[in-house]
Amino acid sequence: MRALPATVLAVCGLIASACGGTGSGGAAAGQAAPATTAAQASPPSSSSSAKQSPPDAKPLDGKVVVIDPGHNGANYRHPAEINRKVNVLTQWKACDTTGTSTNSGYSEAAFTWDVSRRMTKILEGRGATVKLTRTSNNGVGPCITERAAIGNKAKADAAISVHADGAAPAGHGFHVIMPKKINGPVDKVVGASSKLGIAVRDAFHKGTGLPYSTYIGKNALNYRSDLGGLNLSTVPKIFVECGNMRNATEAAKFQDPKFRQKIALALANGLQHYLEA
Ligand SMILES: [Zn+2]
Repeated sequence: MRALPATVLAVCGLIASACGGTGSGGAAAGQAAPATTAAQASPPSSSSSAKQSPPDAKPLDGKVVVIDPGHNGANYRHPAEINRKVNVLTQWKACDTTGTSTNSGYSEAAFTWDVSRRMTKILEGRGATVKLTRTSNNGVGPCITERAAIGNKAKADAAISVHADGAAPAGHGFHVIMPKKINGPVDKVVGASSKLGIAVRDAFHKGTGLPYSTYIGKNALNYRSDLGGLNLSTVPKIFVECGNMRNATEAAKFQDPKFRQKIALALANGLQHYLEA
């Protein structure tokens, strides 16, 4: 029994830094015994606790979400780049657009960027891995084709493109846009996207109190085959048009950071309901 402390002491002498440099031979031997006991005791305790979720488990652990904040803050200064035509399978469309704004000049690009960042924080807090399709609100693009490709490359469990509409001022309310079958790669995720859309529609309605759109779709649901962001997606994906920026009541809400937080929370809840179903 005396041989062990001597050996430990000798090893400590040779590689002092690895032993911490403070322990005597006796202390090292004293630490070794409890460590062995703990190691032997650990298998039964860890197998019993494995049946429960670890205390730090989060509801969206392992899930990948791609958030696409519509448009970009500098798009309007680069018309040639933005107006370049890209193939969205059912037609050719502009690479990206400037988006709309409120009458007082709060842009859709700024709105979608802010809501998307808030949503990112909430979803990451719940354990999800979140990827955004752009990194700031002072750049250009990317093209709608690239926005779809980012979701596909990430193998997202769910993808959402955040927008707000610029419709006639009397129209108000939100709607969700889902893909249609187009004899293309999106066909296999049309069903899942519809489930995602309904989950987000329900959570958005409940969380924000905004009404279903009065001017488009049915019960805030709309299906389209002309959007590149949807046509080119091979992962479940939807667009949300959070409301009408040209409607005075909704414009005032969108310009309020507290309401944008409400929107972000509602969207995150909708995504979570879909991801947990
Ligand atoms: Zn938009």
